[in-house]
Parts: sequence; structure tokens; C-alpha cells
Amino acid sequence: MGNDIELLREGASTLGLTLTLDQLEQFKEYMNYTLEVNKTMNLTAITDDREFIIKHFLDSLTLSQVYNFENTERVLDMGTGAGFPGIPLKILYSEAKFVLVDSLNKRIQFLKNVVEKLNLKNIHCIHGRAEQLGQEMDYRETFNVVVSRAVAPLAILSEYCIPFLKTDGVFLCLKGPKYKEEIQGSMGAIKKLGGKLEEVKSIKLPFSDITHYILIIRKINKTPTRYPRKPGKPTKSPIK
Ligand code: SAM
Repeated sequence: MGNDIELLREGASTLGLTLTLDQLEQFKEYMNYTLEVNKTMNLTAITDDREFIIKHFLDSLTLSQVYNFENTERVLDMGTGAGFPGIPLKILYSEAKFVLVDSLNKRIQFLKNVVEKLNLKNIHCIHGRAEQLGQEMDYRETFNVVVSRAVAPLAILSEYCIPFLKTDGVFLCLKGPKYKEEIQGSMGAIKKLGGKLEEVKSIKLPFSDITHYILIIRKINKTPTRYPRKPGKPTKSPIK
């Protein structure tokens, strides 16, 4: 246990973050609980503690390099799965208000248990599809920031995420080495949805050779009401 905590503490410090003992304990409890539940429910393919810390926790925390979530009014994690990047960011930024969404109810039930175990406040785990919630008044154009990792190719993901942003809000997505092709194929979609690619930041993951890219897309115009389209439509015919 000591070694894991030290790895996380050191990795976070490489990212310029100082985690308190309480936060380190919360991370540890989250990892143990996830790996325990993972024996009976498909939550993650990563089961080694060291890899879990690097590829789930530190990877999620790299978003702090491009945005200060402290006191952010409303943050959405779309397609959160087992809680990445939403839960690590919530542990780090205890005051910010988070909404975690996933279309698989089992994962949302799991996350509700995580929230209770870790005693996290100002966080809601919602079962739903991006295409439906994005048309609901309580969610549409109400967020300052939307984050998302490993959910869909960029054109589809943009239709899932940009409708939730207020004008001037930012959509931050984590992408791999093929990010340039993804951007090329998604410029039309991003523009139609009211967004504008502002910047791409490359980030080296501590204790690994992996470099990933954070795309920063700002919402400059309202999203036309026809987006997001009906469930399944963004995947079947991505916006061009
Ligand atoms: N973001 C997590 C991560 O990086 O570990 C989970 C990634 S997992 C590969 C993708 C998740 O997105 C799944 O849990 C899936 O249920 C969810 N998802 C896919 N399409 C969705 C949609 N249209 N609306 C909401 N959630 C969706």
C-alpha cells in the first residue's frame, strides 16, 4: 500500500500537484474498491496497481495541466465508465461541482457506491445517453466544462459533448497519437456544433513513455437545436 501511495504522490507532484494524505487515501480506496468489483463486473482491463495509478489516476489528473477546475460551477464527464477522468478530478478539486454520465446503469450504480464510500460532495452520477440528456433543459448548455476520455471518435464525441456547454465553456478531450487525423475529420462537426479548436497540448504521462494529447475546444456559438440527434444517429452518420 505504501508503495502505491508513494507512486501516486510522486506522479502527481511531477504534474505540479500536491495531494493531501486524505486525498491519497481516497485514491487508494477507490482503486481497491474498483478492482474488487471488477472481479464480477466489467469496469477496467487494467488490474495491476502500478498501471492503474499511471493509466487511470495520473492520466485523468493531467487535465489539471490545461484547466483549473477549482470552484468551477459545473463540470460534466461524458461516458465516465468506471469514473475516469471524473472521480480523480473530483478528489483533487473537492469544491467543484461534477456530473458524471454513462449509458450503462451498472457502472452508474457502482459510481454511486464510490461517491458514498469516498464521502464525495457536489457530485451526481446520472444514467443516460448523451444524445438524450443533451436535449434536456436541465443539462443542455448548462456546463462550464465537459471532459471525456475514450468514448468515441472526435466528430461523434463532439456531438455528444458540445451541446452541454454554455457559450464560452470548454470541452477537454484526451486523445492518443492519431489526434491529428481525428481533428482533420472533425473540423466541420466542431464548427456546426458551435465549437472552435483552440489548442492541443501534448502531455507526457509520468513513469511511462506515453504521450497523450488534450484537445481544447471552446464553444463560441450556441449549438443548433437539431443537435444532438436521436440516440445512435451520431455514430451511424457522424456530422461532416
Ligand atoms: N471514460 C472512461 C475511461 O476513460 O476509462 C470509460 C471509457 S469506456 C471505453 C466508454 C464509456 O462511454 C462506456 O462506459 C459507455 O457506456 C459510455 N458511452 C458510450 N456511448 C455513450 C453515450 N452515447 N452516452 C453516454 N455514455 C456513453
